[in-house]
Amino acid sequence: MNYYSLNKKAPNSTFKNAVIKGLAPDKGLYFPESIRPLPQSFFEAIDTLSNEDIAYETIKQFVLPEIPEAELKTIVKETLAFDFPVVTLNDNISTLELFHGPTMAFKDVGARFMARCLGYFNQNNNEEVTVLVATSGDTGGAVANGFLGVKGVNVVILYPSGKVSDIQEKQLTTLGQNIKALEVNGTFDDCQAMVKTAFLDETLTSQMQLTSANSINVARWLPQLFYFIFAYKQLHNKHKDIVFSVPSGNFGNICAGMMAQQLGLPVKHFVASNNANNVVTRYLISQLYEPKASVQTISNAMDVGAPSNFIRIEEIYKNQFNTLKDNLSSYSFSDEETKTAMLEIYDNYNYVADPHGAVGYLGCKAHLKEHPEAHCVFLETAHPTKFLDVVEEVIKEEQPLPEQIQAVMGKDKVSVKIDTYEDLKDFLIKGSF
Ligand SMILES: *Cc1c(COP(=O)(O)O)cnc(C)c1O
Repeated sequence: MNYYSLNKKAPNSTFKNAVIKGLAPDKGLYFPESIRPLPQSFFEAIDTLSNEDIAYETIKQFVLPEIPEAELKTIVKETLAFDFPVVTLNDNISTLELFHGPTMAFKDVGARFMARCLGYFNQNNNEEVTVLVATSGDTGGAVANGFLGVKGVNVVILYPSGKVSDIQEKQLTTLGQNIKALEVNGTFDDCQAMVKTAFLDETLTSQMQLTSANSINVARWLPQLFYFIFAYKQLHNKHKDIVFSVPSGNFGNICAGMMAQQLGLPVKHFVASNNANNVVTRYLISQLYEPKASVQTISNAMDVGAPSNFIRIEEIYKNQFNTLKDNLSSYSFSDEETKTAMLEIYDNYNYVADPHGAVGYLGCKAHLKEHPEAHCVFLETAHPTKFLDVVEEVIKEEQPLPEQIQAVMGKDKVSVKIDTYEDLKDFLIKGSF
């Protein structure tokens, strides 16, 4: 499969090149040249398919033959080494738990898949690749974990100092080996801006092969489409219209859900659930796309002022505002509303949601008001103990820590503090690896 740049000013790219480069030379995001829907029979037979079968059948058109069948099957199998259960709260609302991976956030799947693809492409290559990634909280840990020990790949993670949770910070600063954490005196947007500047900086890019592991990278973004099909497999027997409410920041996850829909998955509607960072909510009302500086919230992984994947969503719906609106609604919720929702979910369903999931739950409730017949699935994008402070404050009960979290708690943080882009550049050029 070839990919084209959404800026339309760069040559088309192979999958391999798109994975290694991340962004096209014209700084556009890559998008697959064609999307071939799966046959109806695939969805009819869904009960007979394993998660691995589903993943392989849905991703292969985007990857073969550059990664051969057998290797792709292995990559898929290793990527999906944990469960994706749906928990039903009531007749109209379920949650899809995406936090059973090693860093307990949904980004594990994309990070593991991408790391293995890059590992495959790099196996006979003596040149090192540096993965440069900005994180608002969960990407860092997932990427660090996914890429740990991958041959020929160094990882540099930029995170905003004091703006990620303790556990998130531990997950990205304690692994060592080929993983380095840079603690930026600034916001997530500052981190993302530094990463973008680095990609544009020819004195850097002439010296080293830089790539990104944010959801702009097709190998991080596309495997997220699996989730929506896994949910369908568990819910189709309810014979209701399925709506997904996706807690959204950079809009990679929801955009992958839309790709699943393009492949033929019966999805009635998507809800982009936002915190106060609500550029898309405002866009769907005003038709004016006005990114703003991000503000800090308790659902920090969604504190994104300028969502990088929205342009892919526009492409899927061919830049037709009305087609987009038919498929997508968006709501924005305050921290107070989010906390109230966490308590409501706990009191009514004895279920502990993290702040991101709670925003998704609120999106379901808002949608169901207008469409009471639907079955709305909100994505639980992180385990509640990743946000221990706020979860325990709200539900007033101590939470047992899962194994994956306990494993990092006792380790010592190692990070390098930086203030400016020049600091980042220095760090990369001096090659502290
Ligand atoms: C990254 C993240 C999100 C946002 O996902 P996008 O694909 O960036 O929209 C939501 N919740 C959690 C817990 C995350 O880590």
